[in-house]
This record gives sequence, structure tokens and C-alpha cells, in this order.
Amino acid sequence: MSKANNPLLDPARRSAETQLVHGGTHRSEFNETSEALFLTSGYSYPTSDHAERLFKGEIPGAHNYSRFANPTVDIFQERMALLEGAEAARGFATGMAAVTDAVMSQVRAGDHIVASRALFGGCRFVVEDFMPRFGVSSTLVDGRDPANFAAAMQPNTKVVFIETPTNPTLELVDIKAVADIAHAHGAVLIVDNVFATALWQKPLALGADLVTYSATKHIDGQGRVLGGIVLGSKKLIEGDLHTFLRQTGASLSPFNAWVLLKGLETLPLRVRQMTDSAGKIADALASHAKVDRVIYPHHASHPQYDLAKVQMAEGSTLVSLEVKGGQEAAFKLADSLAVILISNNLGDAKSIITHPRTTTHQRLTEEARLEVGVTPGLLRLSVGLEASDDLIADLLYGLDQI
Ligand SMILES: *Cc1c(COP(=O)(O)O)cnc(C)c1O
Repeated sequence: MSKANNPLLDPARRSAETQLVHGGTHRSEFNETSEALFLTSGYSYPTSDHAERLFKGEIPGAHNYSRFANPTVDIFQERMALLEGAEAARGFATGMAAVTDAVMSQVRAGDHIVASRALFGGCRFVVEDFMPRFGVSSTLVDGRDPANFAAAMQPNTKVVFIETPTNPTLELVDIKAVADIAHAHGAVLIVDNVFATALWQKPLALGADLVTYSATKHIDGQGRVLGGIVLGSKKLIEGDLHTFLRQTGASLSPFNAWVLLKGLETLPLRVRQMTDSAGKIADALASHAKVDRVIYPHHASHPQYDLAKVQMAEGSTLVSLEVKGGQEAAFKLADSLAVILISNNLGDAKSIITHPRTTTHQRLTEEARLEVGVTPGLLRLSVGLEASDDLIADLLYGLDQI
């Protein structure tokens, strides 16, 4: 009787749900069942010689400072890497730290970035406003047509950055087509995969080089902590990206990594429930008299429905809708809701409605907003874990008040 030959000892043989409960676990001498929280900044060494060899990198897996390595953060990174099918990962303090480090670690002054223009606010700021201050120029394109990326590539383009589905209009970018364009020009493709989640879309398998997440969203999913992560090949992650993290220090706190690990255990259950409800909400509102259009990637009315079916296993936990009557109508709807909260987070257990024009996209000019589909009547709904019937009833009541 021995478990030595049990095939399930190999993490690669386990399904995602199992990996998200057990993956990457390293137990301490006490053999605790729950992941240990190593709330420590540093580590002591038995001898000076040991310290010297450790700093030379001669002791693999050893820890010397929690800015760049901590056992609890390690478990989070390994578990996420198993889910994503990535060779390596690094945790960050926030999603924006993850995106900024992913981009900055790949460029030098004189380089160029191509990005889709429909991006999360902070991501667009980094690419459009922040990088040019350091001599890295950028071109933003309409991401719906891969030909626009091809046309924007320059000899010095080192990074292509996309988000799909996009915030807040859930437009799609063809990851495989854009990966081929990036690689033909010697650039790396970075995909911000927050809106699809790691369960419904696998950018690395489609050709992306780096994938980023705001772990604040579905991974925590309960509104408690901020966090981020970047995943990819050992070469990219353990090279410039690790050095950038180590030397600039936007590190993930071990406490937050521990909370995120607890979040990963229930991620498939939560994302499945939220996605099912989102689909039901899209169906319930699609032909409502006061709704101009419902936007949901796996709804047949989505302009890129065919691509959504190929690229995404399911249609996301977000639904956007454009109400008739512009901003006044949108405010009336949001202000009459009893269950759904007015806020700007997403991927949370609590359903959240956002009016992008006056909040997340306020910084942009009206012209730039309309370019990415942020009209006065647009609302973005992040579907939570409440009963879908209650969410639909709440929205129908709100629509009645317009
Ligand atoms: C929230 C979010 C970010 C930023 O993450 P933070 O954890 O808030 O820093 C980046 N990209 C997308 C798509 C997001 O939704």
C-alpha cells in the first residue's frame, strides 16, 4: 500500500478546481492543513557562509527578504501558475503595480508600445501618459480589428498591450491574431485578463507572453484586499520582471497573499455562479423597451459573438447595458436599486453598478469616451453572488423608474 504511484501526485494531472485548493502548498514542520501565513520581513541564516552562498544564488528556493520572496506569496504564485499553465509568476501589491511592472520591465527609452485604446483607466494612463515621460512612445488603436495593430507596429515596438473583454463595453480583441502580429515584429504581447478571468480565457495558450491580473477583483472576490500578479515563461518572469520587482518593491504583502489563497479555493464556484447570473441578466434585459442594447460576450447579439465563442469558454461576470434616455435615465436606474450597490469595483460577491462616464472614465475627453463606447446611457454591471432572480427583479424595478 503506497501512494507513490498515484498519478494524482502530479499536479498537471489535477483539474483546476483541485489545483485551486491544494496547488503550490508547502507545509511547515507543523503540517498545518490551511496555508501558513509567514508574516515576516526577513530570514535568519545558520552561518555567515550560508548567508554568502544564499546571496550568490547558490541555494535554490531560499528566502532572504520578503520584498522579493516569501513562503506564503510563493504558494499564491505557484497556485496561480498551475491554473494559468504558466512556468512562473510574481505577485504584486496591486493590479496596477503588476501591469506597470510587466510593461516597464520590457522597455527602454526609445522603445514603442502599441495598445488597444479601450483599457482600464489606470492601464491607459500608464501607456498613454506615463511611459512617454520616460521616452517610451505609444500608439493606441481600435482593438477590434487586428489589422490596426499590424498598421501601428514600428521597428522599435517592444510591447503590445491589450485587455479583452474591454472595460466597460466588453469589446473583444483577437488574442491569437494579435500575438502573431506582435511576434512577427519581435515584440511581446501582454494581456490583462481580469474581465475574462483565468477560468474562462487562457491567453498564454493563445500566444500571449505575459498575463496580468488585478487579484483585487475575482481572485479575492470579497472586497477585502488589493493584489496583482504577472504570469509567463521562466525567462520573462525570472529575468527583467523579477529584477524590476526586487529593486522597485511593489511587493505583495504575505497577509494579502494569504487572503488571496483563500479566495482561490472558491474561485471556480464563485465565477461559475456569477457567470450564470450574468447570462440570465443579459437574456432578461436584451429586449426590454427601455434598453437600447445589452452587451455580453456570449449573447448572440454581441458584434463579436463568433470570436467570443472561440476565445472564451464562458461569457464573463460583467454585463453592460445602454439605457434609453442618456445619463438622466442611467442615474434613475442606478439610484432606485435596493440590492445592487453603486460602486466601481468588480468581480466582487456583491453586485455593483457603475456609470463609467461620470466615474471611471471621467478623466477622458467626451470624444475619447465616445470612441470607446462610453455613452451617457452606459452602465456596467458586475454580477455578484446574490440570487439571480433578485438581481433581475432589482434591475427591472430600476428600469420601471425611468
Ligand atoms: C482593477 C483593474 C486593474 C487595476 O487593479 P488594482 O488592483 O485596482 O490596482 C487593472 N486592469 C483591470 C482590467 C482592472 O479591472
